[in-house]
Amino acid sequence: MKVLIARLNHETNTFSPVPTPLQAFSPTYGRDAYRANKGMRTAMAAFIDQAETLNATLVTPVSAMANPSGTVHADAYAALTQCILDALPGCDAILLDLHGAMVAEQAADGEGALLARVRAAAPGVPIGVALDLHGNLTEAMVQNADVMVGFKTYPHVDMYETGAHAARLLLAMATGGPRYRVIWRQLPLMGHTLRSTTLGGAMAEAVAQARAAEQAGVAAVTVFGGFSLSDIPQPFISVVATVQDTGAAYAQGKAQVDQIASWIWGHRQDFIYRSASLDSALQQARQLAHSVTRPVLLLDHGDNCMSGGTCDTMDVLQAALAQGLDGMAMGPICDPEAVAHLITAGEGAVVELDVGNKVPMPQIGRAPAPVRLRGTVRAISDGCYTVSGPIYTGQTFCMGRTVLLDAGAVQVVLTEQTHEPWDLGVFHCVGLDPTQFRYLLLKSRMYCRPVFVPLSAGLVECDSPGVTTSDYSRFAFQQVQRPAFPLDAM
Ligand SMILES: [Zn+2]
Repeated sequence: MKVLIARLNHETNTFSPVPTPLQAFSPTYGRDAYRANKGMRTAMAAFIDQAETLNATLVTPVSAMANPSGTVHADAYAALTQCILDALPGCDAILLDLHGAMVAEQAADGEGALLARVRAAAPGVPIGVALDLHGNLTEAMVQNADVMVGFKTYPHVDMYETGAHAARLLLAMATGGPRYRVIWRQLPLMGHTLRSTTLGGAMAEAVAQARAAEQAGVAAVTVFGGFSLSDIPQPFISVVATVQDTGAAYAQGKAQVDQIASWIWGHRQDFIYRSASLDSALQQARQLAHSVTRPVLLLDHGDNCMSGGTCDTMDVLQAALAQGLDGMAMGPICDPEAVAHLITAGEGAVVELDVGNKVPMPQIGRAPAPVRLRGTVRAISDGCYTVSGPIYTGQTFCMGRTVLLDAGAVQVVLTEQTHEPWDLGVFHCVGLDPTQFRYLLLKSRMYCRPVFVPLSAGLVECDSPGVTTSDYSRFAFQQVQRPAFPLDAM
């Protein structure tokens, strides 16, 4: 048996000015694509392990993953999808590790268009797909897959398990076992990423119902939170099941999908995040910091680079300085121009320069001016660190050349690349101890929490007007099918 296994992952924020060319995917091909996944915790790694237990011949044309950013460039999408199509001849099974919220310049439904072409080129060959919990499902995706399984965790920690689940079903089907099909129900509901966590709340309850449906015998059930920072027809929440292709299994699966979808719709308010104003959030932070010695976290979720943010907006810092907050550490801020300037000046130099706000955001009509800061260059580093945990433990990340600027009320970690602060290493690499500050200003939604919350006095969510803001009124949605909640009262 010959099994095609490939990975093509991108979460597209169509409002993001961060470009997504081919090199953003760091693609690997053929045997290199295999090696890039084997032994890792990706869905593709699980595909490989499962296929190898069957002594199958593996074809791994490509593994490509880009961090969330703007619409995928046409040539990148064309090249990466063609790679998969060229490898189809002679394959007996197809396993694809996709995201589910990819938008390319020539394909608003990046995954649906790919799956339709794969189906047309390999009619009758079973197709299994693993997806991110934030997938925006479409009819084309559902119609052109036999098995579809998504993550059940956010923060995402079950990529491998999701891939193993999909591969188990698909390879059974490909070797004469039960035939499967995908059924789904979508709700006109644009959930917020901050309400898609499975650590608690409505999403956790919905996912628990999906697990219970699997326990009751449905082959796979996934609740997709969707990714609403995307101006496409249906950036919506969906419930998807893989069921055996028999009347009884279909009826059971459909009943479970309908039940979970109805429950979500009844609780739709709980999937919506209502922002406090930035000023009131900072007042709350000030009160929190008043009586404690540990830092208060200021989470700037309006500029999260792992959702397409520029990692350089300065709104939260400006508002904090205006309110007289001090004892702050902040970072990373991606500003390669400032980094180069400060490295030229050298450690110990006192410098006045423009920081941040350098990437215009035409999609949301913003181009704020940089912030003038005066401070001392305290440290210069290569920006590389090894994660101490608990997420990505042991992996080394590099943020490009990195500088610590001490501007008095705030110490700013400036980097050459965008980077979410998911580890103490982003501060330690420039010799900063984040526990020694009154406030930590982090551009993050979820991934900073396992590390920074335990050492903090508490966290305050700060909604700034970047391209990952939770305030939908800042986005000019034109393609979204209406009515949709919460854009419309329903
Ligand atoms: Zn996700």
